[in-house]
Amino acid sequence: MEFRDLKAQYVKYKNEIDAAIQGALNKADFIGGEEVGILEKRLAEYVGVKHCISCANGTEAMTLLMMAWHIEEGDAVFVPDFTFFSTGEVVAFRAATPIFVDVRPDTFNIDTEKLEETIRKTLMEGKLKPRAIIPVDLFGLPADHIAIERIAKKYGLLVLEDAAQGFGGSIKGRRACSFGDAATTSFFPAKPLGCYGDGGAIFTNDDSLAELLGSYKVHGKGGNKYDNIRIGINSRLDTIQAAVLLVKLSIFEKHELEDVNRIYGWYNEGLKGRVKIPLIPEDYKSSFAQYTIRLKDRRERDQLQSKLKEKGIPSMIYYQKPMHRQGAFSQQAFYEEDFRITNELCNTVLSLPMHPYLSKTEVDFICNEI
Ligand SMILES: *Cc1c(COP(=O)(O)O)cnc(C)c1O
Repeated sequence: MEFRDLKAQYVKYKNEIDAAIQGALNKADFIGGEEVGILEKRLAEYVGVKHCISCANGTEAMTLLMMAWHIEEGDAVFVPDFTFFSTGEVVAFRAATPIFVDVRPDTFNIDTEKLEETIRKTLMEGKLKPRAIIPVDLFGLPADHIAIERIAKKYGLLVLEDAAQGFGGSIKGRRACSFGDAATTSFFPAKPLGCYGDGGAIFTNDDSLAELLGSYKVHGKGGNKYDNIRIGINSRLDTIQAAVLLVKLSIFEKHELEDVNRIYGWYNEGLKGRVKIPLIPEDYKSSFAQYTIRLKDRRERDQLQSKLKEKGIPSMIYYQKPMHRQGAFSQQAFYEEDFRITNELCNTVLSLPMHPYLSKTEVDFICNEI
């Protein structure tokens, strides 16, 4: 059994994917080929925003926004404590300070009450200038973007939706990657929509921001790439990845998103009352980058993981360590009591196999073993 079965997907769609890659090879237009533009247009349409700017990966997608927004030393950016390292890294990379905020135990997403508290505390201390919030759509579930947009407006902050795991999710039909001032996603192979290497994209409705990002991602280009009007980076999605993604986006829309939601239902049926199952609030839809259960304590979680392993069932711990305890942030001072939920989650969560090609028999087997 695979934790995320990329091979099953490839085997099923081998003809289409091979043809798409071969098509890109035949044209030999490896950077900036027509597939890239077609993909950006289709992604923007799917998400429901004006602009999609593709780039090299999900981390650089966020970095490009930090650059375009001039996030710099002395700035504070609010980031959930329970997330992948990137979300805080891109802030510190700009010499700004990531301020970590605890999450909710049921949705795993940023706790908006604690977010507002933390913003007020930062303002009161007066050392750093609050600039932006980076809510994460963790495990495929959109964060509470309605409350976050209200808080951002109240305090004049920018919002970057980190939808690296969230592509395909929605709130009341409004799709992930359309929230905040801009949103980013990742096409790392194991994400809900993945390519065959690294890839990422930025989404926004802001025309001038889109233009600025287009410049930053190609060495700060002006009129053309040999006219450089600012310091940028090199961050492009290549043509072969775009060709693969065009096929994958079609099958994602056609059935994969529904498949993972059906599998979520099977898991819930088999597991409810035995372990804590993930909560998807009303009006929310998840794209299930992960299906994550919670156990009583670390001992129970670790025991279950090794028992599952004995039965050939892979599982993962996302995440082992809260952001505030990562060595890279050790120069910042933290109070453990500010991160009670994240500390607990790191000891009790376990992510089970989840992908569109998981069968009912496999899910039943996993549930029975648990
Ligand atoms: C994967 C991930 C990223 C980074 O994406 P890459 O394409 O690997 O750079 C950022 N944030 C979160 C929450 C992620 O899961």
